[in-house]
Amino acid sequence: MTALSDIIRADVRAMTAYQVADLPEGFIKLDAMESPYHPFAASPELMEEWGRQLAAAPIHLYPNPAASGLQQALREVFDIPAAAEIALGNGSDELIQLITMLVAKPGATMLALEPSFVMYRHNALTYGMNYVGVPLNDDFSMNLGAVLAAIETHNPALVFVSYPNNPTGVGFKREEVEAVIAAARGIVVVDEAYGAFSSDSFLNQAGVAANLVVMRTVSKIGFAGIRIGYAAGSAEVMNELAKIVPPYNMNQLSLATAKFAMAHADVIAGTTAKLKAERERILGGLAGIGRLKAFASEANFITVRVPDAVELFETLKQNKILVKKLHGTHPLLDQCVRITVGAPEQNDAVLAVIRKLYAS
Ligand SMILES: *Cc1c(COP(=O)(O)O)cnc(C)c1O
Repeated sequence: MTALSDIIRADVRAMTAYQVADLPEGFIKLDAMESPYHPFAASPELMEEWGRQLAAAPIHLYPNPAASGLQQALREVFDIPAAAEIALGNGSDELIQLITMLVAKPGATMLALEPSFVMYRHNALTYGMNYVGVPLNDDFSMNLGAVLAAIETHNPALVFVSYPNNPTGVGFKREEVEAVIAAARGIVVVDEAYGAFSSDSFLNQAGVAANLVVMRTVSKIGFAGIRIGYAAGSAEVMNELAKIVPPYNMNQLSLATAKFAMAHADVIAGTTAKLKAERERILGGLAGIGRLKAFASEANFITVRVPDAVELFETLKQNKILVKKLHGTHPLLDQCVRITVGAPEQNDAVLAVIRKLYAS
């Protein structure tokens, strides 16, 4: 009899599972770019109306994401050009997976910047693509020359650019991303997971540049729990992608919530503005501390380099604050931690620990 371990792919058996933090009660969770706020909790009326919408959702019927009206609502709220087709995913994680599947011919290559979102490489390996990672510069800016050279050498079928980049928070120059889109013969996904916190977007180019797919998610703006991402791109790409999107990949409760959210986009924008102001306040607080370097951020997190990242991580943990220890995941992230922007009192708690450690 064949052992199951012989049946299951050796490369998968050699992987390690994505670690989702399981936190004790009372911890401040600033490791995963979640919003500190339930999006509707500040308004009893909104909470009630949302509850009514959920109660009315036809959960006995299969969802029909295409006919749900969500795509149209997204189009209106985010000014997605008429030329672009939209795909909905169960989180943008699913869209990353599906776009990878779409191009994963034997021998095909995926290119991404390093360090960046770990799921790009993970999907390349899962679907048997070659993976080329091009290192960023020391200040986390794009090494455009190296990227263009790698595109020339490897002719990637798929390029991922996280704009702004996770886990560094830095936004690349728009002209650099434009140069990547122009140089690549394959699909370029501009992953705007943090687009709501950024000063720039490629959404207005979706459907205009044939090989561009702009990917977004509602996860970082208060809806990580409903798992909805979307991608906008040319019909040439998106009509093919549509063939491999599972027909019922979104659920009725999430669809109802997302549509409700789009009808109250002003409330969500208000929270986003508040978090952006908090980001700048934290950066201001960190700027005066000479022993650390905080990188300017276009996202809802701040990456800092400190004298001893393990010490900071552990000290924060002793103070019941969880952040992401980046140190050890990539040479460019030496002694770095990534801190999600939280509510003011949470951010104050982080700043207090950091000041105690490093303000001399
Ligand atoms: C968080 C994140 C995603 C995943 O978002 P989901 O919609 O929650 O799956 C995608 N890309 C980047 C760069 C992210 O940071």
